[in-house]
Order: sequence, then structure tokens, then C-alpha cells
Amino acid sequence: MNETRIDDCVSNRDGVLFIEGMASHDLIARFGSPLFVFSEDQIRRNVRRFRDAFEKGWTAGPVKVMPAAKANWVFAIQRVLADEGCGADIYSAGELDVALRAGVDPRFISANGVPKDKEHIRRTIEVGARLTIDSLRDVELLEELAPTLSKTAYVRLRIRPAISEFVKKSDFSPDGMVPTDLVALLYKGGLSIGEVIEAGKRVMKIPNVEVVGFHAHHGRHHRSTLYWEAQMHAYARDIGRVCEALDGFRPQEINIGGGFAIPRDPHNAATHYSDPLLLGSLHWLSLGLKYLGAKVRYRVIDKLLTLIEGHPNAIAAPSIEQYGAATTTALLEALPKHGIDPTGVTLQLEPGRAIHGNAGVHLATVQATKKMTAPITWNLVTIDTSEFWMTGGRFEHHLHDYCVANRLNAPPVMKADVVGRSCYGDRLLGAVRLPDVEIGDLVAFLDAGAYQEVSASNFNAMPRPAAVLVTGNRAAVVRRAENLDDVFRRDELPEHLVPSDTPEQAAEAMPTVGHSR
Ligand SMILES: *Cc1c(COP(=O)(O)O)cnc(C)c1O
Repeated sequence: MNETRIDDCVSNRDGVLFIEGMASHDLIARFGSPLFVFSEDQIRRNVRRFRDAFEKGWTAGPVKVMPAAKANWVFAIQRVLADEGCGADIYSAGELDVALRAGVDPRFISANGVPKDKEHIRRTIEVGARLTIDSLRDVELLEELAPTLSKTAYVRLRIRPAISEFVKKSDFSPDGMVPTDLVALLYKGGLSIGEVIEAGKRVMKIPNVEVVGFHAHHGRHHRSTLYWEAQMHAYARDIGRVCEALDGFRPQEINIGGGFAIPRDPHNAATHYSDPLLLGSLHWLSLGLKYLGAKVRYRVIDKLLTLIEGHPNAIAAPSIEQYGAATTTALLEALPKHGIDPTGVTLQLEPGRAIHGNAGVHLATVQATKKMTAPITWNLVTIDTSEFWMTGGRFEHHLHDYCVANRLNAPPVMKADVVGRSCYGDRLLGAVRLPDVEIGDLVAFLDAGAYQEVSASNFNAMPRPAAVLVTGNRAAVVRRAENLDDVFRRDELPEHLVPSDTPEQAAEAMPTVGHSR
């Protein structure tokens, strides 16, 4: 953490990391380690900034912020969003449920995703949420279901526009080299232009169905505002084409999805892991140096390793306000060009990481340090969390900004891998600069509010950590830590493996005491 920003839930107070008004070590003392900490205040600030920024730019009609539930579906968090008047982007029956229980107005719930089963579609319609058509299978199910229901189904057509103007490398491309428009076209979400038109024509014939607009979501391929401008131009072009093919259909709602980056975005091309050329040279050098003997080889490798260093995202992404201005300006300009008058149209957006990311911190405690000096020099700092509790972005090679929460003013004096507690390599931070750390110190992963807690697993039969919500100088548990009973809750023993015939003894054979089924 380099500097304290305004409008940030984290701050440096005399060398100690505070999350809003709470010192990180006090939180750990009260709630245990490791710990997910979410800032209610930051979530509210983010929502309000999105609303203000897009309302300022979208002069044609209303704006609705509908945060992606998948990024953080903790019930208390969904309550905060409902309290802010947000809608919700939901992907599953479970997310629909949590949004409804939290009190989100169903008219602003956007039921997205492929595939959707019949029950999920039925419930979506019955509660009055918006159904996003994202496959011809959705159309078939709707043809079967809608006429049998007493409720009108409000649907939107999800388009997958070709962002042909934007060919910069996508952050999602496996080797970081594939152009954005291509990665976006190959993504499973959305329908190609021919399919959307077919879906639209069929859906419009179904009794009890009203088509209310369009949906598109490409995700965070690139953090630039240029990417958003290109998306909006492509989207408007396709909306124009579909409307023409649907005999002058006019949308009431245009949903632009999510994918806005956050300033210290951990999933970002600006994140620097280590020089690929350097790593590549290790391989070729090793082949050559093998013949000179292990000693010489390790000496050369040792020198090279001193050059490798992991740097979290150092260049801030555009602000919410910049995204708002660029996106709304482009859409307002592009829609009329393609024959669509935006007057009265509701603009909907579904930020996920940009609402939750910088509202969360993951805290963990140093458990051991290892300092290797031969045959090569390398340091390991082991902490009590795991990549299995920070998996929401592992596939995208995230690298969170980090700090030693009780030594913010201590200068970095060493380079180390910060590793987790599972039996995997569990390399949470690779080759990062650290102050001299001791057992008991706290490592903080910043911007861990989106996708992390909600994707934690029980690898190594590890009970998952607790999550707390902070507002001002108050904190409360919003998801308790698991215990071993929780870990084994779903286990069942088939009859033939029960070691005895009395039920009491059989119960004892289960991994935990007091296990109830
Ligand atoms: C994942 C998702 C979002 C949120 O994406 P972020 O990159 O977190 O902003 C929004 N809409 C849909 C349909 C999604 O699948």
C-alpha cells in the first residue's frame, strides 16, 4: 500500500492499517485469523458514486445500479445494497433467493446466465424479476412455461456485440496476447446477431411475455475508457440492427453489464508478476548450465532470482466518474446514429468488482518464516490463510496489493514468497518486497471484497474463515467461521461401510462428534 487515498476504506494510522475506524489487529483479536473484512461504508460510497456518475451522463432517462450478486452474495452485504436502492444481477437460483430475501425490488433483478433450468425461469417470472434470454433453449422453455403462468414475463435479449473497434490485448486471454474483440466473441455469454433476432421474433409471439429491452456484458477485458466507448458503439449498432429486424421494436431498458476496473485492480494487465523473458532465460540457461555442474548453475540462477520481483498493479484504472462520462457519452452518441431514440430509456449497469473489490480486505497472520541461503537464496513467509480462500481470480492470475498491517511505516528489507497453509504451493504473493516480518505479524490483502470470500473451498478439510462487516468504528460478524462439523456436514456413509450395526456406533464412526443428519 503506497499511499492513503481519499474515498478508500483503508488508511495508515501511525503505521497501523485501519479499515474505516477499526485497527486491523483489533479485528483479528476480536474475530480471529484469518478474516475477511468488508466495509459497509465503502460499498455505499461506491454505489453512490456509480449512481451519480451515470445519472450525470445519462440525460435521456433513469439509471439503475444493479451490482453483480456473484461478486459478494453474503446476505448482510446484499442487505446494504438493497438499502441503497440497488437492483441485482443474479446468475443462479441461489443468488435470486438472496437478493429477494435482502429486499431488492424484483423489477430491478436481472436474471442472467446460461443455462437456466425450468424451475429457475418459472421463479424468475413469478417473482417479477427480469429474465435475460441468453440461449434458444431459454426461448423454448419460455414458450412452454409463459402461457401457463398467470404473470407477465418481462424479458430482455442478451446480445454479444463484436467490439470490432477494440483490438487491444484482452486481460482475459490465456497468454495475454489475444485481441479483446475475439476473446469477447468466443465468450459463452450473449447471443450472436442472427440468434438474437431469431430469439426476439419467437419471444414476441409468446402470450404473457413482454420484451422490455437489451442486455450485454463483456466483462473486464481492458480497463481503459476507450474499451467502454468501443463497447457502447458496438452495442448501439447491434441494438439498431435487432430493432430493425423486429419491426421497429423500441427498448425501455438497456443494460450494459459490468466489467469496470477498480484503481488497484488485482486482475489487471498493469499487474506485473515478473519478467517473462527472465523466467524464460532460467529454462534455457538451465539446459546449458547443466553441464557446468550444479554449483555454477545455482550461482547463476541465484543472481537471476535477485532480479525477479512481483509488483501489484501500479497504475490506477480510470475513476468511476471517468467510466460514467465515457460510457454514457458514447451510448448517447451512438444510439441515434443507429435509429434508436434514447429518450425515456432506463440505463442499467451491473458493476461487480467495482462495487465490492476495494470494500474488502483479507487479513492473515504470519505463522513461520524460512530463510534459505544455500544452494540459492530465497525467503518464504507462511501465513494462516490459503489460496483456496482467495480463489476468485486465481485463474486470472490475480495479484493483490498487500501490506504488513502492523508495520506500514517499516521499510522493505527483503524479498519473499508469501505462501498459504494448504499443502499446495499456495503462493499468494510471489517475490514481493516486505519489511522484516515476524511470527504474529498481519499480512493484509487489499481489494479482496469481490469474488474471494464467496469462492472459498474446504481443501485440506480446512474450515473457512469468518467475514465481518465494518461501519465507522463498529464491526460485526456477517458470516461466521466454519468448524469441523461444517466441513463434514455433507458426508454420508453408505450402509456397507458402517463399521457396526448400532446407529450410535455408526454415528461415532463419522468424522466429527455430534454430527447430525
Ligand atoms: C460477472 C458479471 C457482472 C460483473 O462483472 P464485474 O467484472 O465484476 O464488474 C455483471 N454482469 C454479468 C451478467 C456478469 O456475469
